[in-house]
Amino acid sequence: MTTHYITELEAREKQSQMRTEPYWSEGPDEAFKEMEEVVGSRWITRDKVARQAYCGRGSGHEIYWYLNVSYPPCIIVLPASTGEVADIVRICNKYNLPFVPTSSGWMIQGFPRYRSDMVTIDLQRMWEWKIDKKNMVITVGPGVRYGHHCQACIEHDLWFINTGGGSASSVIANTLSFGVSPLNYRMGNSERRALSLEWVTPEGEIVYSGSWAQCEEGFWGDGPGPNLMGMLRGFCGWFGGMGIVTRMNVKAFSFLENATEILVPEGVSPDTHLSFKDTGRIRWINFQFPDRKSLEDCTIEVSHAQLGAAWTKVPVFWRDLAKSKDKEDFWERWSGVQKEDIDNFHLLRALFVGYTSEKQMDYELKACEDIMKKYGGTERRTKPSDESWIKNADANGMWMLTSGYMSTDGGQESLRTVFETGKRLGDILYNHYDRYFLPQKGDVGWWQSNDFGHSAYLEFMQYKNVDHWDPLSPFFRPETREQGTKWYMQVVTDVDNETGFCNFFSGFQSCLLYIGPHRSDFQIWIDRFQNEFSPKGLSNPPTPYEGETLIEHFPAHWLPKVRSHIRRAKRGRSVCAGSLPERKPLRDT
Ligand SMILES: Cc1cc2nc3c(=O)[nH]c(=O)nc-3n(C[C@H](O)[C@H](O)[C@H](O)COP(=O)(O)OP(=O)(O)OC[C@H]3O[C@@H](n4cnc5c(N)ncnc54)[C@H](O)[C@@H]3O)c2cc1C
Repeated sequence: MTTHYITELEAREKQSQMRTEPYWSEGPDEAFKEMEEVVGSRWITRDKVARQAYCGRGSGHEIYWYLNVSYPPCIIVLPASTGEVADIVRICNKYNLPFVPTSSGWMIQGFPRYRSDMVTIDLQRMWEWKIDKKNMVITVGPGVRYGHHCQACIEHDLWFINTGGGSASSVIANTLSFGVSPLNYRMGNSERRALSLEWVTPEGEIVYSGSWAQCEEGFWGDGPGPNLMGMLRGFCGWFGGMGIVTRMNVKAFSFLENATEILVPEGVSPDTHLSFKDTGRIRWINFQFPDRKSLEDCTIEVSHAQLGAAWTKVPVFWRDLAKSKDKEDFWERWSGVQKEDIDNFHLLRALFVGYTSEKQMDYELKACEDIMKKYGGTERRTKPSDESWIKNADANGMWMLTSGYMSTDGGQESLRTVFETGKRLGDILYNHYDRYFLPQKGDVGWWQSNDFGHSAYLEFMQYKNVDHWDPLSPFFRPETREQGTKWYMQVVTDVDNETGFCNFFSGFQSCLLYIGPHRSDFQIWIDRFQNEFSPKGLSNPPTPYEGETLIEHFPAHWLPKVRSHIRRAKRGRSVCAGSLPERKPLRDT
């Protein structure tokens, strides 16, 4: 074993230092009994095996698990109705028990972090799906996942977005936080797809928003008073830090007639896809461009002309991933790719749908052809199927490359900002940080046009060799973890602050107080809302100060710039200092 790896003995010693709190906490018996009376004994447990299954899961778990800051919940409870959710939340308030809602658990924030006394409120039993077909409005409960929802929409000749996280994630959870898909190009961002809501506040009151507030059908997101979606979601959502949404009306959109005959599921897992049986009505087309500028300018123009159903540029390594049979196959392909190949490869992926007729799609294709001529875009052979965005999920494959995956930067801004941010991140990563992650060789990330180009989405992904990040692995590389963390928590935010991009992964891998001062101190408003609606801070702490809490667990000499900015924000322009969870100082890991 080479000297820069720690030995197994050292790893064991490290483990004993890392966790400074007991792993298991039982929660008060009285609270357990009261919750049991609400849901019945079948739907509540303190069984350790079940609790362990709710520990340290979801996207982002790599950092939390390896820092030993993931804990099992003290109680798991599965309510079946809004009334039961409200009762449970009130019991948590009575006993000062922090709670975390979880709908399908794709995110680490759906599980306890930093403390073992949290109650997990698992919402999977709240499965409601009701359609008002005439008005294309669908009522969903938090247990409904994209797989259910998208299939049901297709059966009604309607459609909805599906995310890269895919069919396993909950429609409500995703609409509250993130809600991004290339299909947002035509269906809009998630805050506009959500209509009326039913919300259990962090103190256990039941509140209705939009037209539900007036006992109407819930067709509208607005209603008397302010639109609550602004507060419940804002830019990127609360990740469970603002109570629980127990029901939501979402807008669905008209699609193809007899959609189930045109989109036919084929293949055996994991190679499943929707086969397009009528490419005159629905088609993905890949366009190749001579250079990056033509691709970018063309995106602006096709968006302005409102052509197509989606326009997206994916990282080049995704193409190799899609072609690979397994991890080894991927690495063989990717190792042969040079930076020049990436610099000279410009592919834009477009979806066309003939919503009303073949003629309509034909018109869009012809208009598109004219624009392509102007920018030198040429059509490439493209599979007549969809693996990701309409109903399926190839999300699990995201971990295949290195076994460790966490997005760095993601958010919605102008197309200009998105192009610029991706390029800067690609450059800095290539020149300084590529050796700590899967080398991306200067790629500019995944981006897409939203809302006909009125906004755009960028996501910059990062793949890590988990052995190099795990302090307990004999292959642990302290420098990789330190520099990789610097990339996540400082470098990316520095780039965003220069370009004007705002990262909606700030909830868990960068610090609100590092970003806020560059964005009109929006954290002050976050604090005000939290102080008003969640004065005890029991709703999924330490949200939204996840990054600030995470940083306390790193060695004190790491990230001096970020720490000094946080201190300044706490002293001066933010009132958040009081709302940070009080934790005893933890030893450096
Ligand atoms: C590989 C991968 C790719 C992804 N790609 C995309 C993508 O392209 N686009 C995109 O938008 N997202 C993407 N995601 C994110 C994914 O869609 C999210 O995980 C999803 O939005 C969260 O849904 P969930 O059902 O897993 O929620 P959970 O993990 O259960 O919850 C997520 C957060 O919301 C809170 N929460 C859950 N339910 C409620 C509720 N009812 N009320 C209030 N708070 C609640 C939880 O406490 C938690 O903090 C991706 C994730 C992965 C792992």
